[in-house]
Amino acid sequence: MSAAQPKARGGIDLGGTKIQTAIVDPGGKVLGQARRPTPTEGNPPDVAEAMVQALREAADDAGVETADLQGVGVGSPGDADGKTGVVSGARNLPDWAGSFPLGETLSKALGTEVRIGNDVQVAVEGEYRLGAGRPFDSLLGVWWGTGVGGGIVLDGKPWLGRGAAGEIGHVVVKRGGAKCPCGRKGCMEAYAGRAAMEAEARRQHEEGAKTDLFKLMRKHERTRLTSGIWERALDHGDHMATKLVERAIEALGTGIASAVNLLDPEAVILGGGLGDRLGERYRDALSEEMGKHLFVDDRPPALLGSELNDLGGALGASLLFAPQSRS
Ligand SMILES: [Zn+2]
Repeated sequence: MSAAQPKARGGIDLGGTKIQTAIVDPGGKVLGQARRPTPTEGNPPDVAEAMVQALREAADDAGVETADLQGVGVGSPGDADGKTGVVSGARNLPDWAGSFPLGETLSKALGTEVRIGNDVQVAVEGEYRLGAGRPFDSLLGVWWGTGVGGGIVLDGKPWLGRGAAGEIGHVVVKRGGAKCPCGRKGCMEAYAGRAAMEAEARRQHEEGAKTDLFKLMRKHERTRLTSGIWERALDHGDHMATKLVERAIEALGTGIASAVNLLDPEAVILGGGLGDRLGERYRDALSEEMGKHLFVDDRPPALLGSELNDLGGALGASLLFAPQSRS
């Protein structure tokens, strides 16, 4: 083997419930992958250790040593600083309200360079370069899950702003409206985020409104209203679930249309836990809600689902070590 031979690279998608890893060859082919639950107790070093184990497992699957990788990219929640590798305020992870040098910690354990990116931004770039976004030069990714995240590609380049661009979940859809998990009022996420939808369902249920949502949650041994539970409740024709998802779609349509009015992208890609589950089912309803607010309403952007699904975050993260061009 010559030293100049292109090397495989690694990707880690750090989610609130699972850590997904992948090893990818220079052409973008997946050589190995692994998945582990994200620790729900402990502290940032425990989460980092689980990430190291999951990446090693994928490397074993691919038959490579982690130290021989070109590098490992990470898609992280919270405030992920790409320059320093420090991740702060990842509140879905145990004891991670403060700052932790994730990049440095992983790099020491894996024996290779590590780069950190925002989880949604790397997933959107994955779709742009390897998935549903391939035909387009500009797109808006909307990741509909526990919160609502976003990513922007303009003229073939990711638009990061000063590091905080793409926060479409906090676009205001109703002045003085519902309280958002971010503490502000009337954000899109206050109506469409899975966590906010669950909080509203609990509130209505405690006030006596009927729903099977929580029965389904217990039956399937969940502690939260996961996207799968929402889907089942919709399948049962549950009234509250239907109303709350329709309210979410209305908020998504309003917020996405406002962003489209500003950026005029060629495509909107809907991903994330709820987006992957319900996007197809609600595509027409979402188009209709968007249509009410689009300024140029005779040529809306293409509205697509994500193609890479579960592996998208890890593949996108691995691209932090790939030249800025499509494979
Ligand atoms: Zn907010």
